Amino acid sequence: MKTAVFSARRYDQTLLARANAAHGHELVFLQDRLEAGTAQLAAGCQAVAAFVNDDLGGVVLEKLAELGVRFVTTRSTGFNHIDVAAARALGLTVARVADYSPYSVAEFAVGLLQAVNRKIARASMRTREGNFELDGLMGVDLHGKTVGVIGTGKIGVLFARIMAGFGCQILGSDVHRNPDFDALGGRYVERTELFAASDVISLHCPLTEATRYLVNAQSLALAKPGCILVNTSRGGLVDTEAAIAALKSGRLRGLAIDVYEQEASLFFQDLSSTIITDDVIQRLVSFPNVIVTGHQAFFTEEAIGQIMQTTIENLSAFAAGDDLGERLVA
Ligand code: NAD
Repeated sequence: MKTAVFSARRYDQTLLARANAAHGHELVFLQDRLEAGTAQLAAGCQAVAAFVNDDLGGVVLEKLAELGVRFVTTRSTGFNHIDVAAARALGLTVARVADYSPYSVAEFAVGLLQAVNRKIARASMRTREGNFELDGLMGVDLHGKTVGVIGTGKIGVLFARIMAGFGCQILGSDVHRNPDFDALGGRYVERTELFAASDVISLHCPLTEATRYLVNAQSLALAKPGCILVNTSRGGLVDTEAAIAALKSGRLRGLAIDVYEQEASLFFQDLSSTIITDDVIQRLVSFPNVIVTGHQAFFTEEAIGQIMQTTIENLSAFAAGDDLGERLVA
């Protein structure tokens, strides 16, 4: 199937081409982010392979459908960037990668937590400058602390298991109970109790209308003073302005984020030679107790290999009229 691959970085091109060798789809690699102004680049293609910051809202989907695109597959598990209702109305089939190494994200979340808690990135920058002082680098033991996990699905439960290994008490909040979470000794509580009792809060639920801004001024007011917040899930879960206020007041001891609500115009590109006009992210990165990474939690050899393989398999399944199972979004 002729497929427009949007937001295609070098690694996408190499690994998708490798996964495609046994399938023979015609892949058109486009570095551009998919949005209303670039949708036209999919002309002549029956399918589109998109990424997390591509715009798959109603307007773009309509343009794609007009161009003859019939299938959209996203190189991610999350599909909050896709207007599913609009896709259905337009008769577009949409698929995702339902499953890939959840270890990639869970392990990265632990790394981010320790990077901000023990100020590892800061210490590394100091030693490069020949500064071996310890002032300003003190952290806390995680052993004995309470860790709140919001979203106890595949990634959340792995994160919880690692934190249980550190000797932490684990609290969870989810709309569904996961027996694996109970089995590792986690205790489900209401979200308000989780905020009040947790020394660390880590977000692992999808971005939906119910979860948008679940971390906001009200929930942060309930948070245990000195709490560290980790977000490797989706930027829209956190009201960034409220998080900045909580950092200023000291309510948050630290913030570690791999995702940011306005990341679409920033992440996955080198902007180091340009003026970044987003004052919020600039403010965030100026805090000594904040660490920001550019949506890289999934970026391991294992996870990427699975994402590329499944993306190609999705194309083949659609072309053959096969059942996409839990990979089917619309
Ligand atoms: P999953 O579907 O296995 O788990 C998500 C959990 O969130 C489920 O248990 C679900 O019941 C729960 N949930 C849904 N609505 C909720 C609510 N209102 N309150 C509390 N919990 C709720 O998904 P997963 O594979 O563990 O992935 C979790 C999230 O991680 C994804 O949605 C995605 O946004 C994010 N993610 C980020 C990266 C990255 O690179 N940073 C990579 C992959 C996934």
